[in-house]
Amino acid sequence: MTKNNSKTIRYRGRFAPSPTGQLHFGSLVAAVGSYLEAKTHGGEWFVRIENVDTPREVLGASNDILRTLEYLGMNWDGGVVYQSQRGALYQEAIHSLTQLKLTYPCTCTRKEILDSSIMGIIGPIYSGTCRQAQTSHKTGALRIRTDDRSIWFEDAIQGHVAQHLESDTGDFVLRRADGVFAYQLAVVVDDAVQNITHVVRGEDLLGSTPRQIYLQQLLGYPVLNYMHLPVVTNRDGKKLSKQTFATSVDLSKAVPQLMTALYFLGQTPPVEMLKSDLSTFWQWALGNWQVTQIPRSNHDFIDGSTQEK
Ligand code: GLU
Ligand code: ZN
Repeated sequence: MTKNNSKTIRYRGRFAPSPTGQLHFGSLVAAVGSYLEAKTHGGEWFVRIENVDTPREVLGASNDILRTLEYLGMNWDGGVVYQSQRGALYQEAIHSLTQLKLTYPCTCTRKEILDSSIMGIIGPIYSGTCRQAQTSHKTGALRIRTDDRSIWFEDAIQGHVAQHLESDTGDFVLRRADGVFAYQLAVVVDDAVQNITHVVRGEDLLGSTPRQIYLQQLLGYPVLNYMHLPVVTNRDGKKLSKQTFATSVDLSKAVPQLMTALYFLGQTPPVEMLKSDLSTFWQWALGNWQVTQIPRSNHDFIDGSTQEK
């Protein structure tokens, strides 16, 4: 038996950026964290472009992200997966959930939803008006019924996380009225189809994970291992994104920016490395990566990569 075949479960990680802009410091941290976790476990690291919400996609952004990863020396395994090409897989999953009699069409307007909503942990939650309606509508959004069970998992950094979906998040959307599949559904189907074993991503998605585990359970998929990294916020405490004017990664300062990402994740690359090349950087990072040093949150981190307007 060869060395690779002797392990039945191999680490398969992924980085799943949404192409709504160029790679910025916040997404760089998620890329570096997921890459180092995969590679230090002798695993594979895949890149999936999460462009399921095509109207929000920015032209050229996915190519830009991929070229930046390549330039930085983060080489992915296999081909890049694009969610925009996977509608049939998502539809198949919806079909299975519908057979379980767990989906229903929701024809409520945005205003009706807000007027009847109750407060959950992620904001106002849908009150379930259309749950009982038994409409035969083919239009509208498609929602999944939630229930009062506790869904919990142990996050490798954030610890124990539990939610009662019915009261915490409410019945959620699988497919929007405009036909766009919801992130929660697409991510679950893709992680399963790609045989992902470990998810390393930003802590802003921690509250979505119980909904994803719920779908995994219903669809008979394996439940994954989760690690939610601290997220990068700007000086106002807002997550870095295009909306908060995060600047994109500056390729002329590749090593300093990668080092900043490592510092953010609690690692301690020596300052002298600022002047070294990318291969020396990766050698150090792969040899010295310590998960136990990653902070749960990093609110005090002063990030020089945000522009203030
Ligand atoms: N596409 C999501 C984002 O860019 C990440 C999804 C995930 O890692 O599950 O925020
Ligand atoms: Zn409704």
